[in-house]
Amino acid sequence: MSLDNTSMPSVKHCANVVNAKYIHGRPGHELVPSRYAHRVGEIDVLVVSDGVLSLPGAMLGHNVDPAVRAAWLEDMFLPPDVLEWALNVVVVRSGGRTILIDVGIGMEFPDLPRAGKLAQRLKAAGIDPASVTDVVLTHMHMDHCGGLLADGVKERLRPDLRVHVAAAEAEFWESPDFSRVSMPPGFPDALRRTGKRFLKEYHSQLRTFENEYEVAPGVVVQRTGGHTPGHSVVRLASGGDRLTFAGDAVFQVGFEHPDWYNGFEHDPEEAARVRVRLLRELAANRESLVATHLSFPSVCHVAVAGDVFRWVPGPWDY
Ligand SMILES: [Zn+2]
Repeated sequence: MSLDNTSMPSVKHCANVVNAKYIHGRPGHELVPSRYAHRVGEIDVLVVSDGVLSLPGAMLGHNVDPAVRAAWLEDMFLPPDVLEWALNVVVVRSGGRTILIDVGIGMEFPDLPRAGKLAQRLKAAGIDPASVTDVVLTHMHMDHCGGLLADGVKERLRPDLRVHVAAAEAEFWESPDFSRVSMPPGFPDALRRTGKRFLKEYHSQLRTFENEYEVAPGVVVQRTGGHTPGHSVVRLASGGDRLTFAGDAVFQVGFEHPDWYNGFEHDPEEAARVRVRLLRELAANRESLVATHLSFPSVCHVAVAGDVFRWVPGPWDY
């Protein structure tokens, strides 16, 4: 067991390891649309990929023996040192409102060049930023709120846009505690900077809630805490169908190893408790799950497998 992260490689190194593989010689061309439409009763759901983050493999469980971690990565057919993380955003339409759940990373970390594509992908999907009535932030890490800070975005949003975030989250970023995280070099500073800037730029649009808020019919944001003090999930329910957007409460490794501490978790013990509680509930309800960093489009179900969980991808149905 090691909490030492001094040997963690930089994100730039991770990007260099994988980038060559993904440059197809046609910069600017989208080979796939990177959006996936789904319905939950009367609610329209569109999962949109903001891109992919290349991060050090150690981030997926910093309380775990590196050899055990490397073995898991090998079992998953992944490279031993670099984790390829999806970055999913969701657009929800219900009761005449258009709601963006999280907004991707924008231009907040230039060493992650394969992400920050939300604006271009919303455009390709025919979604005008001026049609968005509400933004819900699961939390204020830069890969979830940075998209609203990208050049030219704010001017295209409606002036009466409402940005929903837990009161505990807004308060946390006034003076955030990074003492229990395990992040690549440069991340804590970039996260602090982005969180503060977001609070400043969107101050007049912020609508904070304590524990729960119904944004639109059947669209309820609920605070879980753990990952960050105000981390929240979004529960969709309509006509007997249910889907939960789990934000960063669940990562790929979290089904098999819910007790592995992710490097971005500000309170890792509480984050693990939140994860187990949520996965148990979703397995019992048999409802659908979408999460930020599960492989796109990430629509799946959760099954119980002994005393851990199993990830069951949904069928491609469009
Ligand atoms: Zn995240």
